Amino acid sequence: MAGPGRATGYAYARLVNGTGAGPQAGLLPDRVALPDRVAVLIVGAGFGGLGSAIALAASGEQDFLCIDRGSEVGGTWRDNTYPGAACDVPSQLYSFSFALNPDWSRSFSTQPEIQDYLRAVAERSGVLDRFRFGVEFTGARWDAGNAVWRIETSAGPVTANLLVSAAGALSEPKLPELPGLADFGGAVFHSARWDHRQQLAGRRVAVVGTGASAIQIVPAIAGQVAHLDVYQRTAPWVLPRRDRRYRRLERLAIRRVPGLQRVLRGLVYAGREAMVPMFVAAPRLGSLAGRLALANISRAIADPVLREKVRPRFALGCKRVLISSDWYPALARDNVELVTEPISRLSADAVLTADGTARPADVVIVATGFCATEQPIAGLITGADGRTLAAVWAERGSRGYKGATVPGFPNLFLVVGPNTGLGHSSMIYMIESQVAYLVDAWRRMRSAGLAAVEVDPAAERAWNADLQRRMRRTVWSTGCRSWYLDAAGRNVALWPRTSYAFRRLTARFDFSAYRSTPAGGASAGG
Ligand SMILES: Cc1cc2nc3c(=O)[nH]c(=O)nc-3n(C[C@H](O)[C@H](O)[C@H](O)COP(=O)(O)OP(=O)(O)OC[C@H]3O[C@@H](n4cnc5c(N)ncnc54)[C@H](O)[C@@H]3O)c2cc1C
Repeated sequence: MAGPGRATGYAYARLVNGTGAGPQAGLLPDRVALPDRVAVLIVGAGFGGLGSAIALAASGEQDFLCIDRGSEVGGTWRDNTYPGAACDVPSQLYSFSFALNPDWSRSFSTQPEIQDYLRAVAERSGVLDRFRFGVEFTGARWDAGNAVWRIETSAGPVTANLLVSAAGALSEPKLPELPGLADFGGAVFHSARWDHRQQLAGRRVAVVGTGASAIQIVPAIAGQVAHLDVYQRTAPWVLPRRDRRYRRLERLAIRRVPGLQRVLRGLVYAGREAMVPMFVAAPRLGSLAGRLALANISRAIADPVLREKVRPRFALGCKRVLISSDWYPALARDNVELVTEPISRLSADAVLTADGTARPADVVIVATGFCATEQPIAGLITGADGRTLAAVWAERGSRGYKGATVPGFPNLFLVVGPNTGLGHSSMIYMIESQVAYLVDAWRRMRSAGLAAVEVDPAAERAWNADLQRRMRRTVWSTGCRSWYLDAAGRNVALWPRTSYAFRRLTARFDFSAYRSTPAGGASAGG
C-alpha cells in the first residue's frame, strides 16, 4: 500500500472496502459544464472557498467559479460524518462574522448543525450558481505570456486570472502503514470517510489513533460495540469540555436582544486570545491547565495502570490540546482496551501488536489525521519557473508570505496556507482575514490595471525569518513530534501570534511587498 500521504482517501476506501466512495460519491452529477474562462477560480467549497466566493461577490466581482470534488459545500463538515463529530471551539466563534447563527443548539456545535449552517449560508448568499460540484482540480500552470492560470479539471480546462486554493489543510486523510491490510477480511475506513453501511453494534472494533477525531469517536461508539480496542502511540493532553445545550431562554435572548450575540462572541474571542501567551511566550503557564487535565484523568479512571498509560509525556500544548469530558470514562469501560504496543500488522481477522498479541477485529477505524504539512494540491500547481509548489516546498519547506502567496507563483492565493493554523481559537477568523486580503488584492489590481502580482522573495524571506524566530520560544518547539512539524522539524502549520495580529497584518493588500505587472506589460515571473 502507498505510504502516508501518498494514497488519497478515495484510493484508500477503494482499496479497503471496495466502494471507491469519496465524499458523498453517488450524489454527484454525471457531467458538469464549466466556462472556458473566468476572472477568479476557487478550488474548494469549505469555509475558505465559500467565504471567498461571498466576499468576491460583495466586492463587485461576479466572474468567478468555485469547484469542489465533493457533492456540496461544507468541506471538513461535509466529509467528517463520524459519530460524535463536533467542533472544539465554542459555537459562538465558529461561524462567519457576517452570518452569525442565533440557532446553535449547544455550546459546542455538532457536525450536522455546522453542515446545515454552511448549506444555509451558501443558499442565502446567492453565489451557488457559480459552484460546480463533483469536479476535481487536477492541475494548473502559470502562463506567463498571457498572465493567466491554465487550469485542468476533471470536467475540462478553465483559464483564470486569479487562482484561489481553498483546498483545506485538513482535507486529505493521512494513512498509516498497516502491513497485512490486503489480507484483512473486515471493513477498514478512515474517520473522514466514514462508511455508514457498517453496523458497529455488537461487533469488535479497533480504532487506530488517539487524536482529535478518535477522542470524539470512541465515546460515541463505546456503548454500542461488543468490544473496542483503541491503539495509542502518544497519550494526548485532554481538558474537560464544558459542553451543554443552550436553554430556551438563552436562545430566545440571543435571537431577540440586539447586539447580544456579538457581545458574547467578542467575550469568547477575547478569552481565547488571552490563552496565546501560554502557547507562544511562556509555556510554563500551561501548568495550571495541566493540573486540570490530570484531575480529569483521576476523576474518571481508577485503574493505576490505565492512568499511567493515559498520562501525557510532553509539555501541554506542544501537540494539539484536546477537549473531552467523556474520553477517559470511555477508556475506563469494561469493553474498551487502550493498547499502547505498536501495531505490527493485520491478519484476516485481527490486529497484531509488536508483542505478538492478536486482538480480533471486525472493523478497523483509522483515525490518524490528515496530510497537513504536505498537501497534495501543492503537487498540482506549476509556477513561473516550471516547478510545482510541492517541489519548491520540498526544497525550502512549506512557506509563504502571510500564509497567502509564494514567490514564483503569481496571482495564486492560498487560503489556510503555511503558518495560518491556530492552537487556541477558531480557524474561521483566520480564514476571513485571508479572504479579505485576497479580495483586496484583486480589487486593487483591477483598479490599478494590473495583470499580475507576485510576492517579492525578499519580503517572503523576511516574513519567514520572523515567524521561525518567534517559533523558537513557543511550546510547539519543546521537543514533541506533532503534525505541526514538517519532515525537517519546522513548524509550518501554526501562527505564533494572536489571531488579532494576523487580522491587522492582512487587513490591506500590501503592494510594497509585491512585484506587479501592468496589463499588456512584461509578464510576471516570465
Ligand atoms: C474533524 C475536524 C474537526 C475540526 N474542528 C475544528 C474546530 O473545532 N475549530 C476550528 O477552528 N477548526 C476545526 N477544524 C479545522 C477545519 O478544517 C477548519 O475550521 C475549516 O473547516 C477549514 O475550511 P477550509 O475551507 O479551509 O477547508 P475544508 O473544509 O477542508 O475544505 C476544502 C475543500 O476543498 C476540496 N478539495 C480539496 N482538494 C480538491 C481538489 N483537488 N479538487 C477539488 N476539490 C478539492 C475538498 O473536497 C473540500 O471540500 C476541524 C477539522 C477537522 C478535520
